[in-house]
Amino acid sequence: MTARTITIVGSGDAVAHAGRSHASAVVRVAGGPPILIDAGDGVSRALAELGQVPVDLGAILLTHLHPDHAAGLPGLIQQLRLAAEPPKRPIPLLLPPEALPELEAVLRFFGLDPPRVSGAVDPHPLVAGEPLPLGSNLFLRALRNDHLPSDEASTLKNSFSFEFSHGRHRLYYSGDLSSIAEVERDSASADLAILDAGHLEQEAATAAALAAGARSIVLTHRSDGRRPIPRSELRVSWAEEGREYGW
Ligand SMILES: [Zn+2]
Repeated sequence: MTARTITIVGSGDAVAHAGRSHASAVVRVAGGPPILIDAGDGVSRALAELGQVPVDLGAILLTHLHPDHAAGLPGLIQQLRLAAEPPKRPIPLLLPPEALPELEAVLRFFGLDPPRVSGAVDPHPLVAGEPLPLGSNLFLRALRNDHLPSDEASTLKNSFSFEFSHGRHRLYYSGDLSSIAEVERDSASADLAILDAGHLEQEAATAAALAAGARSIVLTHRSDGRRPIPRSELRVSWAEEGREYGW
């Protein structure tokens, strides 16, 4: 593999479309454990199709708790519990702090009471701004962004976006976005920006990221109404599921 990659596992929209899975991606750097971002519906099957064994994950990060980003979590925990060789230690599960108090009840609904979960995942709140080491010189910085400020559920007003750095290389993975200003702020100088083009107007989001200095852009959250990208624009593409992108 190249030294730094992100594989788009699911690229889809908030509702299902044929051939497109809900959101998830795997970040890898040479010598380090794979890091899963988001666990949309169907993530366990999609990981199996990519040959990614869940017990090998170094961490699971959730941008926010909408079903298209997190509904696959109970199934993924089940995979970890039932693996022939369970994880040597529980896999860190980082999620928005406001969602953490709800997690136990959600998992209980699926019969995953705390003793069944404790060997599989180790939940922690995401802390915005502080670089977090993820192994092999890969660092994560969590960035809070507006998502649905008018939503009544406190867990959905915000999403998190993630900045990964590895030496001088930088990867930006956006959560669900509602602000062009945040695209400009957070995608600046990214070698690769994985950008939600479902909530913002796709051309405006792309233009903002390029103006901020992003060198290459992969758009996710594709719905049926989204437009093709002009052939002349070599730096931008719609995400292809199962494809590995270097950064
Ligand atoms: Zn959302």
